[in-house]
Amino acid sequence: MKKVLYGQNFLIDKNIAAKITNIFLAGNYDTAVEIGPGKGILTENIVIQGKNILAVEIDRQLCCHLEKKFAKYPNIEIFCGDFLKWDPPTKKILGFIANIPYYITSPIIEKILEMGNWSIAVLMVQKEVADRMNARLNTREYGNLSIACQSVCKVKKLFDVPPHCFYPKPKVYSSVVQITPLSHPFIAFKQRKKLFSLIKAAFFHRRKTILNSISISLNLQKQLVLELLRQANIEISLRPESINIPEYVQLLNIIDNSEHKNTLKNF
Ligand code: SAM
Repeated sequence: MKKVLYGQNFLIDKNIAAKITNIFLAGNYDTAVEIGPGKGILTENIVIQGKNILAVEIDRQLCCHLEKKFAKYPNIEIFCGDFLKWDPPTKKILGFIANIPYYITSPIIEKILEMGNWSIAVLMVQKEVADRMNARLNTREYGNLSIACQSVCKVKKLFDVPPHCFYPKPKVYSSVVQITPLSHPFIAFKQRKKLFSLIKAAFFHRRKTILNSISISLNLQKQLVLELLRQANIEISLRPESINIPEYVQLLNIIDNSEHKNTLKNF
């Protein structure tokens, strides 16, 4: 079987493409940013509407293809490079659209969540990732991705997309999700990276108690973690999936105000 490079499962169903772009085009933003435009099936619907679009594609051959395909449109800019290394414009309100390359789903979502100037992201992800983004407390799906997204955004799962809508066909179903920033997020911008590190550490041993998971992941003595959890009012025998967002934020503040704040940098 041909190896799929850069997560290149191209969407080939034009009806699904139209459904995704129509939702996206109803958003309010100055510039559309498409992550991984590929051969341009989503891009096309946005370009022909006259919207300003910045398309960030890592594959040089695809960049050349897109440059030719959209040569007559002044409203598209193609940035040939890695989205994870790309410097976003800071003075415009952005709207993100992507059929996400699945091998870097979490880093892409985290990069969006750490930015301040965006109003909507319409993303196609693996179905199980969409379920995790949208998961409720005390469920099997609730984890660091649920907390990262829901601490900052409203997550809305829109619809599922079967494998036959792509070429090459992926092994799994996909889902389209819409995320929009909360007007009162649980966590300030400058604290987000640290919160994301803390929750990764907490869920690294998700079958253990929060006490054990954090002390192993952050390499801290149990007695010390016990004291930090006590100050955050978190029951030490709970599992990571039974702790809500305000409690994680409270724990972060306590760690961040202690002499152990640098331990989060290792995660
Ligand atoms: N949007 C197209 C579609 O729906 O058919 C392509 C989607 S395909 C799942 C993912 C796209 O992301 C590919 O074109 C791939 O080359 C590109 N890509 C992968 N890694 C990337 C990265 N780090 N930065 C930018 N683009 C990337």
